[in-house]
Amino acid sequence: MKRRTEKKLQIRKVYGKYAAGAVFLAGLLCLTGCGGRVQRYDSLDTAMGTVIRQSIYSGEDITAQVQEIIRSLEESELSWRLADTEIAKINAASGSGEAVLVSEKLYKDLTILLEVSQKSGGAFDFTVGPVVQLWNIDEWAAGEQVSGKQAAGEQVSGKQAAGEQAEAVIPDKEEIARALQYTGYEKVLLEDGGVTLLEGMSLDLGAVGKGLACDRIAALLEEKEVYGAVISVGGSILTYGKKPDGTPWQVGIINPENTSSMIGILSLEGQWCVSTSGDYERYVIVDGVKYHHILNPATGYPADSGIRSVTVFCKSGVLSDALSTACFVLGVEEGMELAKSYGAEVLFVDEEGMITMTDGMKDIFKETGEN
Ligand code: FAD
Ligand code: MG
Repeated sequence: MKRRTEKKLQIRKVYGKYAAGAVFLAGLLCLTGCGGRVQRYDSLDTAMGTVIRQSIYSGEDITAQVQEIIRSLEESELSWRLADTEIAKINAASGSGEAVLVSEKLYKDLTILLEVSQKSGGAFDFTVGPVVQLWNIDEWAAGEQVSGKQAAGEQVSGKQAAGEQAEAVIPDKEEIARALQYTGYEKVLLEDGGVTLLEGMSLDLGAVGKGLACDRIAALLEEKEVYGAVISVGGSILTYGKKPDGTPWQVGIINPENTSSMIGILSLEGQWCVSTSGDYERYVIVDGVKYHHILNPATGYPADSGIRSVTVFCKSGVLSDALSTACFVLGVEEGMELAKSYGAEVLFVDEEGMITMTDGMKDIFKETGEN
C-alpha cells in the first residue's frame, strides 16, 4: 500500500467514471438449461452518476421499465441537484417551519435512515449535505487533469472552486466548522408523513440512492414474476430469483489497491442487495494527501478509520447502502456491531489489505487470490 507521504505534489484524475465497488460477473451467467419462454435480457445505461447494468431472465423484456424506475427515483424523489424533487423541496423549505409532505415510500425510507443515523451514533448522517457540498469531491474527482491548490490563506471555498472548472481546493477549518452547524440528524423532524428541517440544513441521499433503487427494482421484478435477475446500480447490486443453470449469482468484490482485480467473489442465491463503499472511486490527491468522498460527520473531514472498502449484504438495499457508509466511518469493531444489529453481513478491507468479515459473509465469500 502506498503511503500518503510518498505521493508528491499532485492531483490527478482518479475517478474511474463508472467504476463500482462490486461487480456482478455477467460472464458466468449462462442460458444453458434455460427452458420455456424465459430469455436473458441485458442492458447498460447510466443514472445517478453511475453505470446501471442489468441481466434479467424473464418472459418479457422489462429492462426499460427498470431504467424508468431509476430515472424517476432520481428525477422525482432523490436528487438534491435537480429542482422539484421531493428532497429538493424539503431542502428548499428548510427554516420555514413548514413540514414538507412526502410520498409514503420515501417517508418510510427516511424513517429507516433516521434510525441508522441514530444507531450508528451519527457515523451515517443524511444531513451531512452542507459539508459534502463544501468539499465538492464529486466535481473534483470527475474533472479532467486539474491542478492542486491549498486554500490556506486564501478567501476561496471548495464550492467557489467548483465554479472554476472543478479545481480542488481544500476547505479550511473555519468553513468546515460553519458548515457543520447546519448538519445533525437529531435536528430532523419526521412526523405524520412530513419532514421539517432547520434553516440552512439539507438532506443528501448520495450514500443510499443506489441501494434504494435496488429495493424499488426488486418490487417490480416480483410484480412481473421475473425468473431471475442481477442488476448493478453503481456500488449496489441486486440479485433476484434464480439463474437458469441453477448456479448461484456471483458478485465480485473489487480490490481497493488494484481496482482492475478482485479480492474475492460472493455466491448468492435468491434476493439480496450487496453494497460497497470505498475510498478508491471518488477522491482527489492534493499535495500528497488523499481526500475521498465519505465524510466523518463528527469532524467534517474524510473518514479516517483505516478502512479502504466495506461490503455489506442483506435483504434491504437501503439498509445495505446506509450500513456500508456507516461501517466505513466506524471501522471494523463498531461497524461489525452495527451490521449485526441489523442482521446484515459485512466485509472490511483495511489499509494493510487485511480482510475482516462476519461469519455469514465467510459462508459465501471465496477469495480469488488476485490481490
Ligand atoms: P457511499 O460511499 O455510500 O457514500 C458517499 C456519499 O454519501 C457521498 O458522496 C455523500 O453524498 C454522502 N456522504 C458522505 N459521507 C456521508 C456520511 N457519513 N453519512 C451519510 N452520507 C454521507 N454524481 C455525479 O457526479 N453527478 C450527478 O449528477 C449525480 N447525481 C446523483 C443523483 C442521485 C439521486 C444519486 C443517489 C447520486 C448521484 N450522484 C451523482 C452520485 C453521488 O453524488 C455520490 O457520489 C454517490 O452517490 C456516492 O455513491 P457511493 O456508493 O460511492 O456512496
Ligand atoms: Mg452507501
